[in-house]
Parts: sequence; structure tokens; C-alpha cells
Amino acid sequence: MIISRRQFLTYCTASAALLGLDWSGLKTLEKALAASNGPTVVWLSGTACTGCTVSLANRFAAVDPVTDVGDLLINYINLAYHSTLMGAAGDQAVASLKTATAGKFILAVEGGIPTAFGGNTCTVYYDRGKAVTALSAVQSLASRSLANLAIGTCASFGGMAAAKPNPTGVKSLAAATGKPVINIPGCPTHPDWVVGSIALLLSGQAPALDAYGRPAVFFDGAGHNVHEQCPRNGMTEVASFGQVGCLKGLGCHGPETQADCPSRQWNHNTNWCVGANSVCLGCTEKGFPDAFSPFYKR
Ligand code: SF4
Ligand code: SF4
Repeated sequence: MIISRRQFLTYCTASAALLGLDWSGLKTLEKALAASNGPTVVWLSGTACTGCTVSLANRFAAVDPVTDVGDLLINYINLAYHSTLMGAAGDQAVASLKTATAGKFILAVEGGIPTAFGGNTCTVYYDRGKAVTALSAVQSLASRSLANLAIGTCASFGGMAAAKPNPTGVKSLAAATGKPVINIPGCPTHPDWVVGSIALLLSGQAPALDAYGRPAVFFDGAGHNVHEQCPRNGMTEVASFGQVGCLKGLGCHGPETQADCPSRQWNHNTNWCVGANSVCLGCTEKGFPDAFSPFYKR
């Protein structure tokens, strides 16, 4: 299953206004995607549940029956390495990674980075029989990449992987590498946030970031506060689930959470957490989950 270059450009064009891309940025993006070898993205997984990969795959699978995210990324973004989506394995996969990272590449990291025990609790691949840890891989690659993307809350802030007691010393990509990182949080992250951020990078327009390193176009300001956008804002607080009303008394963290979920929604604009009668858990915020627990109040 493949999508055409035109289909992807149509998607990007439709998203251009939302992303704040001007005409020159859109043309630069078109040129980058039209390059025969395509822009290269290397995707590593640290301590992760792979939910962000699943979320990304769902987005494109839902757009069109003939659309497949693996084809999109491999054909148009040149996903040179992704342990879940790539066909290669073992030495062949490692060779692909080395070839890709010898040139210009964007590093995308899903999951937190274990730092205790010399990082030896998380091996990302073997190179000539020697284990390469997530820690050593990201420290090496993040210093040579065009840009570093932290995919999901674990890579952005530690997230679930760094929840107490965190015996493996999981850290965010930025903390583990000391390098500049674009944080694209969410548990999982929204596929539009990932694709939109990559599109902005390829357009030559570095995304403006908020105080937590998140692309402002998706996370910053009053227009992106979950509570302020929530259609239940102003409704009477309900005392139990299953009723339509404000869920603040039940533990909703919408007021402390920045993300455009109420307007963007999930699963191809199907619904979002509060729309499904769940509280907002604050999954895009630094400190999630510990600072937002317990998730539900009696
Ligand atoms: S349900 Fe949550 S996000 Fe919606 S109005 Fe109430 S507190 Fe705010
Ligand atoms: S509504 Fe809240 S918990 Fe749900 S995805 Fe958005 S930020 Fe995360």
C-alpha cells in the first residue's frame, strides 16, 4: 500500500496554514520531499511501550485505505532506521543506520533513556557482537544530527518510563544528551504533532518552541490550554463518571495541560479524552505521570 507524493503534499498543503508555513516554506518542503533520496529520519526506541509508533501508524492508516505510514516514511521521508517498522534486521539494519547517520539526518527518539548501570538496561542494537545502549547511541547521534526530536512524553520529559522509583535512572533525551531537543510529548504523542514538526523542519522554518521545548503551534498559549478549549468549560461539575459535565472534581487536569486535543481530536478526528468521558490526565506535561497522580479522585 502506498500513497503518492501528491497525496502527501496535499496533506502538507492543507496543514500549512495551521503550521504557520508561508509559501517559501511550503516550496522548501516540497523540494525536500521531491529529492530522490528524501530527507532522512533515524528513529530509535529507548524505554518505551511503542505507543507513539502505533499512534503515528494509526493516523495514516485512517486517512485513506491505500495509505500506509511505513510507505509514507520510507518513500517520502526516508525512514532509514526504525526497529519496529523497518524490514531489515540484525547486521543489515545496523549497516542502514551507519549509512544514514554518515550523512545529514534528523534523529527521532521514542522512549526514555536509562542512565543507571552505565545505561546497560537498554540495548538498542548490537554492533559486531557488542551491545550498544540507548544512552551511548543517542549521545553519539544527537551531537551529529540536523535536529533532535523527542517523540512522546517519555523522551520529552521522562514520562512513564521515569515514574517513581525509576530504578534504571531514565532521563529525557535532552537530559541524557545535553543537546537541543524539540519535545513532542503526549502519551502517546499525536501523529499530527510529529508529522507537522518534521514538515516545519523540512520547510526550513525551525518550529517556535514554548518554555518546555514543545512546538508552540500545537502546545503554547491560551489557545492550546485543554481546559480553555474544552466544550465542557462552564458546565456544572459532575460527581461521577457517565454524566456530561465538567470533570474537574473527578480529577481532570485540563486546566494545567497544554495541547490542542479538544480541537484536533484523536484517531482521525474521532474523539478525545474528555469527549469519551475520561478526565484529561495531563499527558503532555512535564512531571507526568507522578505529578498528576492519582489520576482519578473519589
Ligand atoms: S472537563 Fe476538564 S478540561 Fe473540560 S472544562 Fe472540566 S476541567 Fe476543564
Ligand atoms: S486530553 Fe489530556 S490526557 Fe488526553 S491526550 Fe490530550 S493532553 Fe493527553
